[in-house]
This record gives sequence, C-alpha cells and structure tokens, in this order.
Amino acid sequence: MKLYIDFSTLTLWRLCPQKFIFNSKLNLQGGNTDALNFGTLMHLGVELLGISKQEAGFSLPSDEAIYNEIEALAVEKQVPDCRTVINPFLKVLHQLTDEASQYPLFNIPSDERRSLKHALTLTAAYAKNYANEDLKYKGFEHKFEIFLGKTAKGHEVYYRGTIDGLTKDSVIERKTTYDLNAFTDLLSPNYQAVGYVWAAREISRDINLSTVIFDGISTKGFGKSAGAANSVSSRWTIYTKPQDLFLRSKVKVTDYQIEAWKAQTLKDADRILEDYASDAVSRNAPAACQAYNTKCAYKAICMSGSKEMEQTIINSFAKQTEVWQGFEIQEDK
Ligand code: SF4
Repeated sequence: MKLYIDFSTLTLWRLCPQKFIFNSKLNLQGGNTDALNFGTLMHLGVELLGISKQEAGFSLPSDEAIYNEIEALAVEKQVPDCRTVINPFLKVLHQLTDEASQYPLFNIPSDERRSLKHALTLTAAYAKNYANEDLKYKGFEHKFEIFLGKTAKGHEVYYRGTIDGLTKDSVIERKTTYDLNAFTDLLSPNYQAVGYVWAAREISRDINLSTVIFDGISTKGFGKSAGAANSVSSRWTIYTKPQDLFLRSKVKVTDYQIEAWKAQTLKDADRILEDYASDAVSRNAPAACQAYNTKCAYKAICMSGSKEMEQTIINSFAKQTEVWQGFEIQEDK
C-alpha cells in the first residue's frame, strides 16, 4: 500500500484520530472556509510581494495611493484590470482582488475581519513593515512529494507539502494566525520545521540547509471589535501595532531531529492506515475538542449520544468542496 501524507493530516491524526476520520475519510467540512481563504490570500499576497520586490524598480507608493486603491478594490468593488496598473505594489493588490473574486469572502462586508479589505490592508502593512527586509528568495511555493521510506508493515510512505519560500540557507514558512503568542508556543520543538528542512534538503540537494524562518502574520486588530473604535483617527483600519502584528522567528533543525522525525512518521503511518481501515477509532475528548482555542467542528457529532444520531448528523453534514490532496491512500494492485 502507498500512503501520501502531509503535515496537516499528521497533526490532525495526532490530535484526535476521530477528527482525522471525519476530515480525511468522510470528507466532512471541518474548518471555516472564509478563514482558510483569508489565509490563502495572505500567503499569495506575500508571495506576489516577494516576487515583485525582486524586479527592478519596485517601490511602495504613498499611503494615500494605497488607501485609495484598497477603497476602490475592496469597498467600491471595482473590477480589477491588472494591465492598467503601473506601480508593482498596486499591481499585487489587484492580483489579490482578482483571486479573491473567486471566493465567497469577496462579498463579506469590508469592515469584517475576514474581508478582502482586511487582506489588502494587512498585505500593505506587511509590505511597509518589511520594506527594508533582506530575505533573498531563491524560490516560492515549492510543492513536493518525496519518498520517505517503508513502514514496519512494508507500506511505502510519501511526504507531501508546500514550502512557502526558500533562501540560500533557510526554509520560509508563513503562518497566518489570530494569536501570535500561541504561534510562538508551537515553534519549538516543531515537527513541521523538521519535515520541511528534510524536504528542502531533498529538493535543493543541500544537506547543510537547517534553518526555518517562521513568518508570523497576525490577523488581530481589524473590523468591528471593540478596539477598532480607536482606528477612526487613522486611515489604517488595523489598530494593532506593526510590532505586534508581525513576527519572524528562526528555528534550527539538527540531523538527529530529522532521523527521529522520519522514524516517528513511519511508525505513525502504520497506525494511521490501521485507523483508516477500522470501524472505530479513539476520540481524544475533551482535550482535543477545544485545541488551539477553537471548538472542533465535529463536536455535535461526538456529543450526540447515540450511534444512530451520529449517523444522522454525519449524513446531513456539509462536505468539503476544495480538498487539498495532502492525504491519499493507494491500494496495491
Ligand atoms: S469533538 Fe473532540 S473527540 Fe470529537 S472529533 Fe472533535 S476533537 Fe475528536
């Protein structure tokens, strides 16, 4: 059997095997689509900004010009036409709007937290905050699928994922999160960093690569929340200070950690395959039901009290439409 797995699916299974089954086997909608789309937009915005900054003649326009552009795109909803825009940064805002127009998020009122206006404003704030950054990107968005090894039961395991960015000696991993403090708690030890360094070494054939730069972007401080009242004197509707909005942190990964991570992942792979084939798996309630300060989307199923009721809720549960192919099982022929 072949198992293709990514960091998110591994994390999900480690958190709660039942949650993994609901999400990856039954395909039940498990997260807030607007929040996911917001994160996708922010990733794209920062990537486009990074590419744009590598081109000659990049400069940030005035605050006034950025503000006017965001109002036109996100409040007045003018249809973006990237060809008519000359300034490279304004072009990035147009490309983001173009992308956002495919998501339901596009129609969220502009003073809401997950709106297009917030995504554009946050991208502009990021660009201003890192106007003089020295990250020398070698590439962006490296999708990978790499053979990790064989499990004790003889199954082949492939590790999948996307590396947000690579520099000469580091992996860049971007995190869009509400709470940057909770994000720092997850930095060390960090399985994602270890797996991504291993993957980046395989991609670049550079065994000395050992650093991950986590690029944290907080989504706090926009919209109708109480603190937003402070923003009336400012055209920048994010009221959180840049130093609390953005955080970069370096994590070093050792060869020993990589070997331990590989061994653990192969061990877990056999257990994941067992769980996938089983009719009943363990439920890590209540510890996992409120992990990362977020209520598990499947709580109504687990709390329903009877197998019959569970099945009724499962049958009526919304299914995922955009499924990231991070997880896949291929049976032997
Ligand atoms: S509600 Fe709790 S037990 Fe049920 S799937 Fe979610 S995390 Fe697991």
